[in-house]
Amino acid sequence: MRMGLHIQGAYDKAEAYIRAVRPPVVKFLDDAPVTLVNLVNGYGGLTILRVYREDQDLGRFDEYLRDIERAARGSAVRAIEVSHNEAHQAGAELARKAQLDIEGMKLAERLGKIGVVGCFSVGMPDLDDWHLYRPALEYAAKRGHLLAKHEYGGGRLGMDMGVVGDGKAARGYFCLRYRRDLDWAHRAMVPMPKIVITEAGIDDLTPHVPDKTRGYKAATHLHPPEVGDYATQAARYARRLAEDGDRVVGWVDFGFGAQDPQWGGFNLATDDRMLERMTNEMRRLPDVAAPQPPKEVPPVDVKPIDFYGVLVRHLGARLVDQRATLPDVTSPRYGKFGGRLLGAIDTIAVHHTAGPKSQTPRQVYDFHTGPQRQWSGIGYHLLIQGGRVHYVGDMTTARACVADLNPRVICVCVAGDYTTERLDDSDAEALRLTVGAIQAWAQAALGRRLGVKGHGELPGQATACPGGNLLPLVRELAGAPPTKPAPVTGKPDMGKVAWALEEATRILEREGLAAEAAFVGRQYTTDAIRRRDGR
Ligand SMILES: [Zn+2]
Repeated sequence: MRMGLHIQGAYDKAEAYIRAVRPPVVKFLDDAPVTLVNLVNGYGGLTILRVYREDQDLGRFDEYLRDIERAARGSAVRAIEVSHNEAHQAGAELARKAQLDIEGMKLAERLGKIGVVGCFSVGMPDLDDWHLYRPALEYAAKRGHLLAKHEYGGGRLGMDMGVVGDGKAARGYFCLRYRRDLDWAHRAMVPMPKIVITEAGIDDLTPHVPDKTRGYKAATHLHPPEVGDYATQAARYARRLAEDGDRVVGWVDFGFGAQDPQWGGFNLATDDRMLERMTNEMRRLPDVAAPQPPKEVPPVDVKPIDFYGVLVRHLGARLVDQRATLPDVTSPRYGKFGGRLLGAIDTIAVHHTAGPKSQTPRQVYDFHTGPQRQWSGIGYHLLIQGGRVHYVGDMTTARACVADLNPRVICVCVAGDYTTERLDDSDAEALRLTVGAIQAWAQAALGRRLGVKGHGELPGQATACPGGNLLPLVRELAGAPPTKPAPVTGKPDMGKVAWALEEATRILEREGLAAEAAFVGRQYTTDAIRRRDGR
């Protein structure tokens, strides 16, 4: 993943580098010259603008957004940073920042641009604090905005400082720290937006540098030969980022053309020899344009159809509403399950608990909210047990049932382990009725049916769930809806009509619906029998 630049000047040298390297991402500080923006946009790269402002008071974020809007309106950049820089990265301030960053992303949407949020400094926020920023992550992931992180190495190992492990298993606390963030999101089942490294390089993170000069130039003399010079390190980092090409859209080296002398040690534009080395190293990496951020969820006109009401109508006495008895709590680790756009729902995911059939919703709740999972409540929306359907997680929430896809799925789980056990008829019937109810809601609310999949059939899920003995029913339920019936031709066989009506009468009687049975008999069956017998 070729290195982009964080540009504040030296535009001619920046242009030469960009023409030679075609990096997937280029970032501009305050001024984004039209020719450079068009150059990068032209080959499909991502152009990002940051408006710099000393004042990062959370109480004056509105004013900051107005400054950004003014700058962005006249620019063709595709993305704008709409978040304070390396600030408000913990505790209550981080929670507040999450809300403001959502406002920033909405501004970006109004301007037809991608919002870039977070803008967290090296190693921030603390992994235990991420949940405070969760609303912004969920919003960004849903709408195709980007999460910005800064990664600098330092000391004798430069960009390798603190990196342990090889290949995709490599993790860092400075560079490659974003992988720990992705690990957290995976465990917490939080949808993570795509990541862009909006500052990177080598800083004086350790006290080895005698003077106050900062940046790779000051650090270079520390690196042993096997670590390599800055271009070697950057190429190694670039190859590692490319391993996450589906999660990271690009990265930029901080300080190109920076005017302020305190950034002189970072400024590649004043180091022709290193700039040439860097250009050559980067040109040896595959030339890939920035992956296009996911399209925002198409606005679906969701009709306000009461999901619970539909369940009641389809499931009757089988349905048990457990939402008040097993309520969502605030997880000390992950916060609360977030809300979601109903229009994004496209799949019914079927699970098993992989435990005993006798496991009650209360037991599942205690397990999911307990020390092992630490979730906010049961990870599913509906839990079938003993032929009953328990509504355990409000359908308007994205829960913890399909990693990375939670905003899109309604999860139905059947108690039991169907890698070995057989499905009880009563549970099979409950699942059929439940899927039928959800589809009826989807048809009425979204104007379309949902896909039906076993958990392990969904992309990126390595799991045996819901088990080989449950999958055939899932496949049956996934069957395409009957298309338009063929036009009826020929004369009806009244024998068959009479038989069906008699059958209908018997079903109604069996269900104790005597009045309805009498109605069918009086209104239709008698007539059909008369015609059948030619009377
Ligand atoms: Zn599952």
